[in-house]
Amino acid sequence: MKVALYIRVSTDEQAREGFSIPEQHERLVSFCTAHGWSDYECFIDDGYSAKDTERPAFQQMMTDIREGRIQTVMTTKIDRLTRRLIDLLTFIDELDAHQCSYKSASETFDTSTAVGRMVLQLLGVFAEFERERIAERVRETMYHAVQRGKVVTAPCFGYDVQDGRYLINEEEARWVRIMAERIIAGQGTWTIAKMLNDHGVLTKRGREWTLKAVRVYLWKNERLRGHTVWNQHYRKNRKQIERPAREWLVVRNTHEPILDQETYENLQARLEQNQHLAPRAKRSGYLLSGLVRCGHCGSSMNGMKAVTRNKEQTYVSMKYVCAAYQKKAQCFYHFIHTTVLEEHVLQEILAISETDIAVALETLPPPENRQHDELAQTKKQLATLEGRFQRQIRAFEIGILDENDLLEAKKRLTQEKHEVLAKIQALEKAMSAGISEEEVREKITSRVFHMKAVLETNDREQLKTIIRGLVHQITVFEGNRIELIFSV
Ligand SMILES: [Zn+2]
Repeated sequence: MKVALYIRVSTDEQAREGFSIPEQHERLVSFCTAHGWSDYECFIDDGYSAKDTERPAFQQMMTDIREGRIQTVMTTKIDRLTRRLIDLLTFIDELDAHQCSYKSASETFDTSTAVGRMVLQLLGVFAEFERERIAERVRETMYHAVQRGKVVTAPCFGYDVQDGRYLINEEEARWVRIMAERIIAGQGTWTIAKMLNDHGVLTKRGREWTLKAVRVYLWKNERLRGHTVWNQHYRKNRKQIERPAREWLVVRNTHEPILDQETYENLQARLEQNQHLAPRAKRSGYLLSGLVRCGHCGSSMNGMKAVTRNKEQTYVSMKYVCAAYQKKAQCFYHFIHTTVLEEHVLQEILAISETDIAVALETLPPPENRQHDELAQTKKQLATLEGRFQRQIRAFEIGILDENDLLEAKKRLTQEKHEVLAKIQALEKAMSAGISEEEVREKITSRVFHMKAVLETNDREQLKTIIRGLVHQITVFEGNRIELIFSV
């Protein structure tokens, strides 16, 4: 076990008794000796305060911890590490993540014991409190900045920032109004994204609009009605999560609105409504998911449930939709009904004849070539093995390796060599025997046969597995022309 002894002294502590570097050092080393730990290393920050963790030796120690070189960190007292609970908690978290523990030589603070962890939890409560207080101070500062008309957030689509203030960008604002109008009229965010992309309108970050981008942009975006909101979201695992409205910091009428009050509220109501009717089919419900490609743009086509409503009824249809079309409205022909495609594929598989198999085989690289490549690879492997053995012998000659190690290495390498040689022999034999086109045909026919049996029992999970074993790719052109490539 390797122990890191962390020693820190600030400039104003240097003269005080018990704080000097030699004193801390002696204390820690005798602690180690008493516990029988001989493998330790000192990390010393001379003349650094505990206000933050930007200290060279501390950072070096953290790097060693992250790389797994240290199992325990020790200090004379906790305050040598930090005086801020938040830093301490972060430190302990990181230690935990790297199977490292912390001990203080003078306090009951050993994170490898139950008592130590309890103390830690108590400290956590205080840390939370401190975090809250910091957040509150930040909120206050922000609040005043916003009230004075100083912008503290980046501009969103529709606005530019000039001298710290939001100014309407007329061209973008025109699109914002069209977006709102159309959504209120019942169009979906997807249609909106398509409209914007068709007109070459980009997001504020210069990207194409996706249905999600449109939604995120319009949903509860108070800036559009002239208010500034701070503390509305936080990020977790790269996702933006909304805080409860009571935690928001809203300063009203900080800039000119793009949408009037009524339009804004209607828009929100409509978006809210839309969100409740986006049912997602379970992916496994789609027999061919992962296999279908759009013949026009090469994107995958994914199973989707589409809900169309009119006054009388709700109509649900299942489709495979081109991903580029679905996300960015970028491909011109975009979907095929699930039943149409699945039926077609099944029929085609069931109708596989000898000629079809021959055609399918032609689309594959000739097996001779594949075997050729593999043989070349394997021969290379053999050469590498020889090289490794030569290096071992040289290491033995200059005395790095003792005889036992050499024999051990020889045994291991010989074993590997036998395996590789056997593989080469098998490959050469297979190649001289000619290609087993027969075998391939055999394989396909037996799977089709098996599938026919499964079809009768109507077990979709099994069917899915069989299709996967049989079909490499399905390409759809213009929503009705379907091409199948078999895998062998
Ligand atoms: Zn496409």
